[in-house]
Amino acid sequence: MEYMLGVDIGTTSVKTVLYDLDGKVQGYSNDGYDLYQDTPDMAEEDPEEIFSAMSEGITEILRKANVKSGELKGVSFSCAMHSLILLDEDHKPLTRAITWGDNRSVQYADSLKASPEGMELYQKTGVPIHPMTPLSKMIWLRNDEPELFNNARYFVGIKEYILYKLFGQLKEDYSIANATGLFNIYNLDWDDQALEIAGVTRDQLPELVDTTYQLHGLKEEYAKVFGMDSDVPFIIGASDGPLANLGVNAIKPGVVAVTIGTSGAVRVVTDKPRTDPKARVFCYYLAKDMWVIGGPVNNGGVVFRWVRDELCAPEKVTAEQLQVDPYDLLTDIAAKIPAGSDGLIFFPYLGGERAPIWDANARGSFFGLSRTHTRAHMIRATLEGIVYNLYTVMLALEEVVGKPTSIQANGGFARSELWRQMLTDIFEQDVSIPESFESTALGAATLGMYSLGLIDSLSEVSKFVGTTVAHHPNPANFEAYRELIPIYIRLSRSLQPEYKNIAEFQRRHDRKKDEL
Ligand code: ADP
Repeated sequence: MEYMLGVDIGTTSVKTVLYDLDGKVQGYSNDGYDLYQDTPDMAEEDPEEIFSAMSEGITEILRKANVKSGELKGVSFSCAMHSLILLDEDHKPLTRAITWGDNRSVQYADSLKASPEGMELYQKTGVPIHPMTPLSKMIWLRNDEPELFNNARYFVGIKEYILYKLFGQLKEDYSIANATGLFNIYNLDWDDQALEIAGVTRDQLPELVDTTYQLHGLKEEYAKVFGMDSDVPFIIGASDGPLANLGVNAIKPGVVAVTIGTSGAVRVVTDKPRTDPKARVFCYYLAKDMWVIGGPVNNGGVVFRWVRDELCAPEKVTAEQLQVDPYDLLTDIAAKIPAGSDGLIFFPYLGGERAPIWDANARGSFFGLSRTHTRAHMIRATLEGIVYNLYTVMLALEEVVGKPTSIQANGGFARSELWRQMLTDIFEQDVSIPESFESTALGAATLGMYSLGLIDSLSEVSKFVGTTVAHHPNPANFEAYRELIPIYIRLSRSLQPEYKNIAEFQRRHDRKKDEL
């Protein structure tokens, strides 16, 4: 046997998947760690906990599959974007990993966004100005934690830290670098203006390399722990969003990847970097002549989880009694309501929103409630609202890259046939759902195989993706959506000026609660 290992370092766990060279899954491990949220704005992880989780995942999987010396051809990485760790002279962490979900730099991000430099930087870096980026976090730390900031010798992300531990080399791939907000997408290098605004210099950042870059010379101590040969090459890989496009085979122009997991995204690959005059979409590097243009949304499946836990406690109990998944029970209930939820519209902005409105103050709402609406309507309207929002991201994307030709979807939502058909009807596009479940790890493994010359081109991923389930738009449903979507879009604009006011009220109220 010959194998390739895909390692996906996510926000809450590391997913490790062992593939044979036909792309068949031969082993899987999911190893979690804590997200530290001492305050609502904070979202940190412990780099050592992530390292241990990864280490356990790799060790377990190789042991269980009984992978012998010489059989593992390579290990290739995917990683969540935007994390920041400050390191000292000896490469020891001075901070935990501050993740994409950390909002403490919001004030600095907002003022940069409002300045002329904000738009200039977006056009050069392809990253909307937002507290998620290391750029914003560096400005915040430089201002609010000057001692810590000045003591830092290096500024890295979690993947760079892990690979430094394993190989003693400080390298950063173009894709992860791209997501920092400090990387110029036109010359594939750190951007001098961005570095100056962040207050860091090139020698404080890792050396930039392509996503197919191989690291050789795994330290013996780790080779022994993992149970692998120390000459196994590690491929640095890319960030998770672009690799998810590769892993669902959405790499041809016009083929759009829609993900609805905890969060969500709409992404498409182009051959050149592109940005949006209205700064609504990102542009991230995947591989040579492959750029991923798209928008990330905060409010994906997490909103359905809120419905399950906060609106549907009785159904949750029933599901427990019937020993069925509460999500399945809720989607069965929603399926009894007609498309369009009899005119009930839901805005899913429970956690602020990134694309398409980029407003951390956004809040959710139901619109159009009448006495005839039931809880079942509310369940269906929520599922629809999550998809309407993604559809408006698609519309922004269309302005930059043109109309999609087809859609490949993935994420936890795909477990529901109703939700898959809803996506198909609201987007009015054919949607296919690949059978392979860990798309990002598959993307990483595919990129690794390409780097090692085991496949000739990335498009060979099509044979790894396996069979797909196809959905076609149903006219009986999309008629209603055609009427409701323009209302959703108009309302979305008219609600926006009030988000800040209501969010400020909620914050004041929250503080009072704390004081009691
Ligand atoms: P993550 O983004 O953390 O990797 P997943 O891709 O597994 O998570 O997505 C989790 C989300 O998928 C849940 O929050 C829920 O909204 C949705 N989900 C999970 N199971 C079902 C189901 N049976 N039916 C509908 N939605 C589901």
